[in-house]
Amino acid sequence: MSIQKKIINIYTCTQYTGRIPIAIGTKSEVPRMSQSRPAWSRAGMYRIFQFDGENYIDLPFYAQKEVKQIMEKKIKVNLLILSLFLVAFAVQSQELPQPKVVDPAEKWNAPSDAVVLFNGGNLDKFESVTGGPAKWIGEGDHFTVNPGTGNIHTKDHFGDIQLHIEWRTPTEDIGKKNQESGNSGIYLMGKYEVQILNSFRNETYPDGQAGAIYLQHPPMVNASRAPGEWQVYDIVFKAPVYNNEGMEKEPGRVTVFHNGILIQYHVEIKGPTIAFNKALPEHATKGPLMLQDHDNKISFRNIWLRELNL
Ligand code: MG
Repeated sequence: MSIQKKIINIYTCTQYTGRIPIAIGTKSEVPRMSQSRPAWSRAGMYRIFQFDGENYIDLPFYAQKEVKQIMEKKIKVNLLILSLFLVAFAVQSQELPQPKVVDPAEKWNAPSDAVVLFNGGNLDKFESVTGGPAKWIGEGDHFTVNPGTGNIHTKDHFGDIQLHIEWRTPTEDIGKKNQESGNSGIYLMGKYEVQILNSFRNETYPDGQAGAIYLQHPPMVNASRAPGEWQVYDIVFKAPVYNNEGMEKEPGRVTVFHNGILIQYHVEIKGPTIAFNKALPEHATKGPLMLQDHDNKISFRNIWLRELNL
């Protein structure tokens, strides 16, 4: 058997036994001695034995030296590789900033780094799109569309966001059909509508139902609850990016969960949707969050977002 082969056996043995198969002393002592290291082994008086799976077999004298040398060389190389790995790991660890600590909240409430747009009380964070205060009706923990008063939007503008918004279509719309039942919408940057509709047993065109990116992407599934029940959208929005010439470099993207169910995944926005706010600049990097007055009394509550840099 070649020395290389013996070394392979020794290494294999290490893997299986979890201890270095350097046996010390006479052959008869090996199994016992290999369990522990007696004092005289620390003085360097050791011999190498091959482990064949059951027994330790003494190597001839000429092999001892060569095996030791090759083993020591391998150990040196391994130590070098380990050192390089540790250095690389340390450098990488230093370059990666620690993620910011954010305190999550109970249930659907806003986490510590959120911008709260409405959590009961007044509509101070919103205004009428045509100017002046929002004329929708606040009622305790929620507010409701005041039909005919027009769309409202946030005073602040946002780009990439994670948005949480709860909404409810009115029971008075049960029996109304198609786009006439529980219609509203959330316009990201005032331009891109995530449709709100009563889509509970109310059929309409697929890319116009609740959760659709209006006339662009139908939702993957219909996760709608009945009128009168609160529903939730959790939206991740990446704003489109334009170059200096105003050409779109990267399209906007949207992911939507409806009542906790994924209905849109990273879909591409193909430009503003119908009834968007045309007063906004064409290539803005940020825009207001707009809510649609479509003559139905949709209610909203617990609206918060996290500004992101996606
Ligand atoms: Mg709509």
